[in-house]
Amino acid sequence: MLQQTTVTAVKPYYENFVTLWPKVENLADASSESVMQAWAGLGYYSRARNLKKCAELIASDYDGKFPETEAELLKLPGIGPYTAAAIAAIAFRQPASVVDGNIERVFTRLFCIKTPLPAAKPEIKDHVKKHVPEDRPGDFAQGLMDLGSSICTPKKPNCLLCPLQTVCTASSKGEQELYPVKLPKKAKPKRAGAAFVMIDQNGAIYLQKRPETGLLADMSEVPTTDWNSNRDGETSADAAPLSLNWRKSGSVKHVFTHFELTLIVYSAEISADDMTNPVIAGGWWSGPEQIKSEALPNLMKKVITAVHPNAFKS
Ligand code: SF4
Repeated sequence: MLQQTTVTAVKPYYENFVTLWPKVENLADASSESVMQAWAGLGYYSRARNLKKCAELIASDYDGKFPETEAELLKLPGIGPYTAAAIAAIAFRQPASVVDGNIERVFTRLFCIKTPLPAAKPEIKDHVKKHVPEDRPGDFAQGLMDLGSSICTPKKPNCLLCPLQTVCTASSKGEQELYPVKLPKKAKPKRAGAAFVMIDQNGAIYLQKRPETGLLADMSEVPTTDWNSNRDGETSADAAPLSLNWRKSGSVKHVFTHFELTLIVYSAEISADDMTNPVIAGGWWSGPEQIKSEALPNLMKKVITAVHPNAFKS
């Protein structure tokens, strides 16, 4: 949950998760829909799907107990090298080399590693490996992560307070902020489309489920056009699933890992006659109270907020 976000943002989600599913078997038995609902708003939704798949596997093949070694943990869905090493070291006291973004920064500075990221990752891991203690490897990893997030910060690291200052090459040369070396970021491709917020006589909004695979799989959404490139993207009300009296209600931007999306948002009230149109037979109507607990990704929350600014305020 903590990837790409802060403890403050994650806390209520984490507490809700462990209340709903206190044991791995409970999560394995939960419906995918309820898991996606509880995750909605955290982004990176494939992690929620993998968490669920992982719980199912642990419950069925591992008798409800997590494997303890990095190699076995790596075989589980959604667990990559960083997470496998972190679980092995922190939960099971295995001497695994944990390398996250904070530790990368500390080690590239300690040893003035000039190779740019991400090519430097194996080199950094080798350095970390040489220093992992047999005793308390989990505390070693967490100590380094904390050092990276609180003292060895990306800008203006507080070297005077750093317990590693006497052995830090970058600090001795006054070159801390030159590390880690990163290649210039490529601009993300831009895409555009339109989103359509249909509202019934009771103020409920029409929602449908996204496909089971692909981006934001299994999440809920209002109907949209394809998210094409700017050049051929359809952004007019002509592309709406139903011919209604559409009004332009604004536009929203959202940055995904591989592209930036702009959606023009349209809204319209639907008449009782149009409610039976087969074009919208596959979805459901979500009222002002219900909408808050739908499995809506942040993009869709932004779209609905463009029409109803208070839709997700408690
Ligand atoms: Fe980072 Fe400064 Fe500590 Fe070196 S001395 S590890 S640059 S905080």
